Amino acid sequence: RRINVNGALSQGVYAKDVILNIIRRLGVAGGKGFAYEYGGAVVEKMSMEERMTICNMSIEGGALVGYVNPDATTFEFLKGREFVPKGEGFDRAVAYWRSVTSDPDARYDDVVNMDGAKVEPTVTWGINPGQAVGISEKLPLPEEFSDPEGAKKAYEHMGWRPGSAILGTPINVAFVGSCTNSRLSDLRAAAKIAKGKKVHPGIRALVVPGSAGVKALAEKEGLHKIFIEAGFEWRAAGCSMCLAMNPDKLQGREICASSSNRNFVGRQGSPGGRTILMSPAMVAAAAVNGKIVDVREYA
Ligand code: SF4
Repeated sequence: RRINVNGALSQGVYAKDVILNIIRRLGVAGGKGFAYEYGGAVVEKMSMEERMTICNMSIEGGALVGYVNPDATTFEFLKGREFVPKGEGFDRAVAYWRSVTSDPDARYDDVVNMDGAKVEPTVTWGINPGQAVGISEKLPLPEEFSDPEGAKKAYEHMGWRPGSAILGTPINVAFVGSCTNSRLSDLRAAAKIAKGKKVHPGIRALVVPGSAGVKALAEKEGLHKIFIEAGFEWRAAGCSMCLAMNPDKLQGREICASSSNRNFVGRQGSPGGRTILMSPAMVAAAAVNGKIVDVREYA
């Protein structure tokens, strides 16, 4: 299946918002039997890190494979990295990689077109990544879904009312982390929001780099200082609260603004805990405001 994200994204809208919208539209099982090939002007313009966020969450949409055709951005990213051929070997590798890109006239089982300009900062309201809304939208009615019972179950767990707003929902925990959204560009986006501000009183806020390499790069440019001064915990790389690792767990009915990829019941350690997925910048904005806000107003 080819998924084209056309046009351009607005300021404050990120790769996470794009993939949450794709899953919302096609469903958490919509990718069954498909490989997802992402393209279109928005994806072509994205950095490798942004593309990784989208491809990483393909599985949340039911697709076992998600990829972007290799292009100049890919080759630039790979050049000079460990285990990548050097010199003429690199040129040969690039020629091969180019040869395996999809033909311009390739035929797909299905083609989906999305308008990037219509994507707004997006958050989940339910218990799977497809149960998502744009930040300015009201929560949907169960009858709007092909599986109203599934939506009712999600509302029961989350404790929200259909038709109400998610904007302004108070949070208890803010988590910038996970393999989906804790790359250097994610940490930069979150730090930009946190800079010069303080984590809202009573909120536990964590920043957990996606890898030791990312942590070192972030520290080199001083991002850790911005987070620490703002009152975030600056932690060693790992999965942490994405899956309730060690003490990184929600307690009771706590609500977590999280840049991770799964909002399943119990995923963050408490059977009653509630996870709201969003971009790292949105998490940082929620941390300093103590509630879900529209990051476009803080960017
Ligand atoms: S548990 Fe770790 S590897 Fe798995 S999705 Fe979360 S951050 Fe990624």
